[in-house]
Amino acid sequence: MKMRILLPVLALLSLGACKSQPEVKYVFYLIGDGMGINQVFGTQEFNIATGLGPAEINFANFPVHSFVTTYSSSSRVTDSAAGGTALASGVKTYNSAIGVDPDVKPVLSLTDWAKANGYGTGICTSVGLNHATPACFMAHTEKRKNYEDISTQYLTAPVDFAAGAGFIKQKGSDKDNNYFIEASREAGITVFRGPSFDGVADVSGRVLCLSGKDQESLPYAIDRKEDDTKLSDFVKAGIDYLDANYGKKGFFFMIEGGEIDWASHGDDIAACVHELNDFASAIDVVLDFYYKHADETLIVITADHETGGLMLGAGKYEMHPELLTNQKMSKPELTVLFRRTFFPDGQKPVAPSWDKVKAFFKENLGLWDAVPVNEKAEAKLRAVYDDTLGKGRDLSEANLYAVNSALVVEAVDILARAAGYQWSYGSHSGSPVGLYVQGKCKEQFSPLHDNTEIAPLIAKLAGYKH
Ligand SMILES: [Zn+2]
Repeated sequence: MKMRILLPVLALLSLGACKSQPEVKYVFYLIGDGMGINQVFGTQEFNIATGLGPAEINFANFPVHSFVTTYSSSSRVTDSAAGGTALASGVKTYNSAIGVDPDVKPVLSLTDWAKANGYGTGICTSVGLNHATPACFMAHTEKRKNYEDISTQYLTAPVDFAAGAGFIKQKGSDKDNNYFIEASREAGITVFRGPSFDGVADVSGRVLCLSGKDQESLPYAIDRKEDDTKLSDFVKAGIDYLDANYGKKGFFFMIEGGEIDWASHGDDIAACVHELNDFASAIDVVLDFYYKHADETLIVITADHETGGLMLGAGKYEMHPELLTNQKMSKPELTVLFRRTFFPDGQKPVAPSWDKVKAFFKENLGLWDAVPVNEKAEAKLRAVYDDTLGKGRDLSEANLYAVNSALVVEAVDILARAAGYQWSYGSHSGSPVGLYVQGKCKEQFSPLHDNTEIAPLIAKLAGYKH
């Protein structure tokens, strides 16, 4: 996977650019977790059809496009831990490893390298701060589920600015979000709670920005309420802080859109396109900074892997992305509403009729109304009804991040297929992902990279000696 064949192309492209290194002062490294190429272009199709997002997603039009192979040392299909370690440290490791090599030996990351060279460092995510991707930029541990260990390592990590929903509590541990917020304060870190982070630029020591609510992940963009914190709030706070404290020297800032992956695990295309647009909104904030410092800023955007095996097209040679607007909330939220409607107070339902169930999905997904339901799809949904509500019971279907009602899962799938989106598998795929680069030294990136090549290349361009 080294760049043997590509080197001549690289040499040619790099003529006239990036003459002496380092020329990059500000690095933005954005990771859309689970963000395959079809997640990007499927969202763009949705935006074109609905006007609910930019017809041209900002980074999809970056001047340098490339592909990244994502396999880990233990599998052709990586998880976010091995993928994150490769992107952070340039080291192939086994699935579940956080910042350690296959022998469980700690490996340093871009955050360590930047800090050791005197640069400011920031990490930011829409999910828990100790979740796999951000963890790879600040911790070293054998298993990604070691949430307590990761949170503890954050307290002394070389991270000036950190932002995330909260600290995920490890199963069986009594150290919860509040414990680590307090521990952060005791470690001398100034803690801010969202959605507003006013005053963050006035702090000169370490800063931690968290959701204003007690959350382990921010709500999906499709479910967001007025007072919820969003990823772009974190990004804005991070840039304000890093620019105020390290504007002169320079900084490294990693930003993760963590829930593109979660929506894709849940085969939830409506939630996914809103999540991707939300990630692009956070990139708008980065671009605002870039336009002021274009000759010193490098923006690198990629994904750790693709999730869900998303296909554009569902059998017919047509797509109707506009139909997705009939889904007003994520699949987990729709499950909550479904259970509240048919199991009030957690009681057994009074076996609601098929017509009542149809009315629910007509109202909440537009089925049999704006969304056509063919005979085969209706028969399948009816079969799930006969086996569940028809018998006065609910059945759950679990994916990695949610447990949804089986009837809701089937109904959302009908909508997705009618819109022309189809999932192949509720987990990660081994597909390569996109790499989108803008700014100083962008020409140094090749048409194809392995995920281990990006971190060393960024370090070289920014002059992080390691
Ligand atoms: Zn995942």
